[in-house]
Formats: sequence, C-alpha cells, structure tokens
Amino acid sequence: MAKNNENELMEKVVSLAKRRGFVYPSSEIYGGFASAYTYGPYGTELKNNIKGLWWKMFVQEREDIVGLDGPILLNPKVWEASGHTKSFNDALVDCKECKARFRADQLIEDATGKDLEGDIEAMNKELTKKNAVNCPECGKSNWTNARYITGMFKTEMNGFTGDVYLRPETAGAIFVEYKQVLDSMRVRVPFGIAQIGKAFRNEIVTGNFIFRVREFEQMEIEYFIHPKTKWEPLFEKWLKQQESFAMALGAKKKDLRRYEHPKKKLSHYSKKTVDLEYNFPFKFTELFGLAHRSDFDLTSHQKASGADLSFKDPITGENYLPHVLEPTFGLDRSILVALSAAYTEEKVGDETRTVMKFPKNLAPIKVAVFPLLKNKPKLVKKAREIFDSLKSDYMCEFDDNGNIGKRYRRQDEIGTPLCVTVDFDTLDDDTVTVRDRDTMKQTRVKIKELKDYIKKN
Ligand code: ATP
Repeated sequence: MAKNNENELMEKVVSLAKRRGFVYPSSEIYGGFASAYTYGPYGTELKNNIKGLWWKMFVQEREDIVGLDGPILLNPKVWEASGHTKSFNDALVDCKECKARFRADQLIEDATGKDLEGDIEAMNKELTKKNAVNCPECGKSNWTNARYITGMFKTEMNGFTGDVYLRPETAGAIFVEYKQVLDSMRVRVPFGIAQIGKAFRNEIVTGNFIFRVREFEQMEIEYFIHPKTKWEPLFEKWLKQQESFAMALGAKKKDLRRYEHPKKKLSHYSKKTVDLEYNFPFKFTELFGLAHRSDFDLTSHQKASGADLSFKDPITGENYLPHVLEPTFGLDRSILVALSAAYTEEKVGDETRTVMKFPKNLAPIKVAVFPLLKNKPKLVKKAREIFDSLKSDYMCEFDDNGNIGKRYRRQDEIGTPLCVTVDFDTLDDDTVTVRDRDTMKQTRVKIKELKDYIKKN
C-alpha cells in the first residue's frame, strides 16, 4: 500500500490484527488494561516463528553463541550493581493546563527535533522557552518541571525482605550467569550468550500499539571480546546482522537507518551506541540497538559480588575481563515491523484484496486445505486425508466454510502462502489446485508431489 497516509496504515494494521486473531487489546471485557496486548492464535504463531528465526540465525547456525533462559526475578543486588536501581529513570512532565502527562525527552524531540535524553537541565530549559514545546493535547505551553521517575517495576517476594524487581531487560541474567557458562561449556572469547524473554518497564506513556508497552519481550546477546580486539569491524558486522534480521522480517532497506548516539549522550562506559531505526507507520524510530559496553557490567558485578569474573584463556593462559558488544532486539517491535511491512492492498477487478505478504517462513499458517464443497463427503474425506498428511510438517488449516473466494480472502488476510483445493477432478486424477498467495496463480499438482511442491514454494 502506498504510504501516503501513514496513520491510516497503522489503523488498518491494528484493525486487521484484532479482527484476524493476531493481537487483541488485553482484558477488553473489563475495559482493557493500560496498553496491554494479547497475541491471538495467529499472532502467537507469528511470534514463535520470529523467535525461531532469530534463534536459528544467532544460536543454531553459530558455533560462537550459546543460549540461556534466566528468571525474571533476580537477586535485587544485580540491579544495584548494574546501576538500574539508581538510574533507570525517565523524565516525566505534566501539562499544567490539561494535565496530560508525557515523557519529557520524547515530547521535546517530537516538537523540536532535539535529543535531550538524560539531560534534565536542558529539558527544563527547553520547556520554559516560550512556545518552544506545545502540548500535543491542548496546544498550550505551560509545563511543570520535568522530574525523573524510575522505570523499574517493584514487587514483593515471600521470605525476602526488601524490594524485588521484575527485570527491566533480559541482559542482567546473562552477566550474572556468565561465569557458570564459562565453567560448564567449552566457550572461548570471542563468544556470545543469547537470551529471549520478557522484560518489564514502568513506562510513563505507552502507545503506538505494541511499539511501546510495559511488558514486552527482548532478544538479546552479550558478545564477549578481548579488550584489545579491534572492535570497530565487529561492531559494523553486528549492525549488518541486525539489518539482515530486520529485512528477514520483511523490512525494506530504504525503511531502515542508523542513529549513532552523540558522544555526550553516551554512558561513560560505552564506546559507541547505535540505534537501528525503522520507518514505522507513525515515525522513523528505534527498532533495535547495539552498544559497546566495555567491561562495565563484568567489573560492576565482580566488585559487588566478590566473585572472580575474569576469563582465563586456556591456550594463551592470559587472564582478563572481556569487553562486550550488546546487540538487542525488541520482539514486539519486530512483530510490528512484520505486520506493517506485510500489509498490502491490491486492486483485483472491482475489488480490493487485502494480503499480508509475510516472508513465507514467518507466515502463521503455511498451507490451507479446502474441500470445494462442504456437503460432498468424498471431497471432504480426501481433503481431510491431505490435511492429515501435512499437519506434522507444517502449521496447516482446514476450512470448508463458505465459497472458495471467501476462503481465499480469509487466508490472504492472515498471509497463508498456499491454499490447496480438492475438487471433483481430484477424485478422478489425484491432483489438487494449489493457489499462490502473492501471484494468485493456480497450479494443478499431483497429490503425491504435493509435499515437494510445498517445500519448493
Ligand atoms: P526507547 O528509547 O524507545 O525507550 P530504549 O533505548 O530504552 O528504547 P533499550 O533499553 O535499548 O531501549 O531496549 C532494547 C530494545 O527493547 C529496544 O530496541 C526495543 O526494541 C525494545 N523495547 C524497549 N522498550 C520497549 C517497550 N516499552 N515496549 C516494547 N519494546 C521495547
């Protein structure tokens, strides 16, 4: 679809996602709940396929990266050592006129293009400039002082005294378990540890559908390198791999760009941080991130825990704390890329067809099987046989409801690459019609060659 009206695209994606079982607003029967979303049956398949693709690219196909699955609740000392308890903050500001609440750095960036994240003085200066930043809700420019609040979700735990937090990122568990991985696996620097899991952030403002929520999933890697390694080429390689992954979700190259954090905005330990931005329907903004974190995390955890976190090279005998490159991928933002890049409207005769042109390996349903008519037992039986022969290899769907045109339209809307129809000719010659999602071309295929055909298409 031509992106001439971008918010219109977003509305269409959100509406299709709900109507077709990809993403539902959560707790809707109780009036919803604070931008929480539920992945519906097709959304869950899509999500699993994206996770699977990521795992395949970054764990299965790599000898230098191993996987991990850590808990959401970690010893709170982890977050003290990493600095999260003290400084995982966002600046909040309220409009004194209409009481609307905003994250100050984003409000200012949207109004002026200036990136002042982390500099509260500069933010307050900007907010008090006459009409520099107007309230997106009421249009006035009368702000409270911006102030920091924590983004950490606090909870309690039986048998434990003190605050416990839901992890705000998955990376924490990787650093904490790094030593155990070293001791139990045959890894040698350079190597990485990968993890997929939930993270929780008490965001000031959520929005743009699943782009910014308070409970989300991350796919993260800590890639440990020798402190003297020439890291620049590796950094570039990781950025390229992040771009490749975005393109495997369906993103076009022209919809991706890099934003390098200016030196003065960088954390003191980071040598370089780059956001990979995507041209989301509402804005060009952060999809993934890549940071050089030096040995900050291992040093901090070593100091706070007293454990020796150094790596002893089994070949050279050298003992040192590795530096780390951290590529981080948001899973929910990946799903939003897949949904918005796939959404297509095409004119077919007098009608408009809506098709989700997902990359085929990500489509929730790979093959749909139809008997031409529902009240012809022989057709239904044959279609069932075909469905049963495919379902252990592919996520398939059996549909005998309504006319074939309607069934095609439904499968187009969920992005099913192939539809197989059993008709009267099938009973005579053991062939079926296979219809392609993108070209709408129909091909007659012998049943005994169907599996091969599906594999190739
Ligand atoms: P932003 O500036 O958008 O708040 P961030 O720089 O705080 O993001 P990171 O801490 O780098 O984000 O988190 C890593 C990744 O996790 C992001 O690139 C993004 O894909 C995802 N992510 C972060 N916050 C959210 C959120 N509230 N909802 C969904 N995904 C998120």
